[in-house]
Amino acid sequence: MTPGERLPGLLDHVIDGRSVPAASGRRFAKTHPATGETLWQVAEGGRPDVDAAVRAARAAFEGPWGRMRPDERARLLQALADRLDHEADRLLEAEIHDTGKPVKLAGGIDIPRGAANFRVFIDLLRTRHERAWPSTAPDGAPVLNYTLHVPKGVIGVICPWNLPFLNVTWKLGPALACGNTVVVKPSEETPTTATLLAQIALEVGIPPGVINVVHGYGPGSAGAALVEHPEVAAITFTGETRTGSAIMKAAAEGVRPVSFELGGKNAGIVFADVDLDAAVEGIARAAFLNSGQVCLGAERVYVERPIFERFVERFVAHTERLVIGDPFDPSTDFGPLISAEHREKVKRYFALAKAEGAAVLTGESALELPERLARGHWLRPTVWSGLADGSRTLTEEIFGPCCNLAPFDTEDEVIARANATRYGLATTVWTRDVGRAQRLAQAIRVGLVWVNAWWLRDLRTPFGGSGLSGIGHEGGEHSLDFYSDIRTVCLKGLPAGGAV
Ligand code: NAD
Repeated sequence: MTPGERLPGLLDHVIDGRSVPAASGRRFAKTHPATGETLWQVAEGGRPDVDAAVRAARAAFEGPWGRMRPDERARLLQALADRLDHEADRLLEAEIHDTGKPVKLAGGIDIPRGAANFRVFIDLLRTRHERAWPSTAPDGAPVLNYTLHVPKGVIGVICPWNLPFLNVTWKLGPALACGNTVVVKPSEETPTTATLLAQIALEVGIPPGVINVVHGYGPGSAGAALVEHPEVAAITFTGETRTGSAIMKAAAEGVRPVSFELGGKNAGIVFADVDLDAAVEGIARAAFLNSGQVCLGAERVYVERPIFERFVERFVAHTERLVIGDPFDPSTDFGPLISAEHREKVKRYFALAKAEGAAVLTGESALELPERLARGHWLRPTVWSGLADGSRTLTEEIFGPCCNLAPFDTEDEVIARANATRYGLATTVWTRDVGRAQRLAQAIRVGLVWVNAWWLRDLRTPFGGSGLSGIGHEGGEHSLDFYSDIRTVCLKGLPAGGAV
């Protein structure tokens, strides 16, 4: 299912194994970020659609999925992972149409991560241990206390637009492996791959109602209806910090647990002992991959003074060499922003940066693009210097293709500057000095520290942020913990020769 030549197509919800339009009959247009053409008229869900989806998910949880033996569930999820690999081209095309991200990126990271996100949790569940505490009752009978991990029920899954397929599979892999069912509300900007996933799951034999997808917006729409639904047992959300705050208020009703992966204002730090070219390339990836629309990206870059001038020169040259253009062209490094609205937001920050005293080192010149791409949401990667640490540009998340380069003199100074934020998601540190790397890893208040790397993930490790960047961790055992409840069982045996 990609829109192909018949534009725009109709994209519906998937509820209880069927494609259905919105109960209200309403639709919204989804446009292609690179060309501006309308791809889909998408079903615009609201409370009745979410109600139907949650009912279907609850029925599947109490019925076929909940009653299924765990090894059978694992077999079906394994079949889904295999099928996602098999359908990679179709998923890739759909993801590029929705996001405008270059094929190099979507094909190299986003789409392969789908199957991996299922496999890692299937494997982890196979080797998960329960705990046991043998003891003795006052009457002398043997007692075995032990834990069981049980599924929570219907999980509400709310996803952003920047990594749509990667993010939805990151949540569904563990949620389903643990035995839950889900209702997914994908971003209104990127509705397609979640819908495809739900349809492919049905094709491999995952029962109807296990994965439901309801499209729509956030406040006053499908998103709010989902997080307010009393039958939703837990909510996993990735998106903006202020949306997380609204969702947390809704989750407080019913005291439902949340897992939040939120925004960031991450620092990149480069010491003078590095291989300069490797550091330039690494920081440029952190600043500009996915056109700067990665929560883990570095919008604040600190470079040790002895190499500052050389770093700036090479970084600007590297930025200017990035190939901007058609996302389907394998040589393209850099695609459009997701929407006209988001581009306007980023452009307002570009104006603010200049008002706050930034020198624009590269980025302002007009783009020459083929006629076909003229209505896309393009913006050149932009590099500043001269911004003050407390400026709005350096404290608010922009989520665009930009970064500020600033010199620093001492380790303590750069730690303090990196920590001068209420976010706490990630940092990327470049140095050959292992001792220093360890000191920074200890001192910088974030959930993830990369040293001489960026966005290199082992899916068994915890992933999450502190401060305004999130609540809780997913990844490895942490995901299995969030998507299960722990039950303690106290099993008393018969006392010798007696009745219980
Ligand atoms: P967003 O918060 O605007 O929207 C995310 C999702 O929430 C969408 O599906 C939207 O429809 C829904 N939503 C909005 N308001 C809602 C409400 N009141 N109730 C329920 N649902 C609601 O975020 P976005 O613009 O799609 O994504 C960009 C943000 O995501 C950035 O801040 C980025 O840092 C963050 N992000 C974080 C991570 C991470 O792992 N920490 C990963 C990716 C993106």
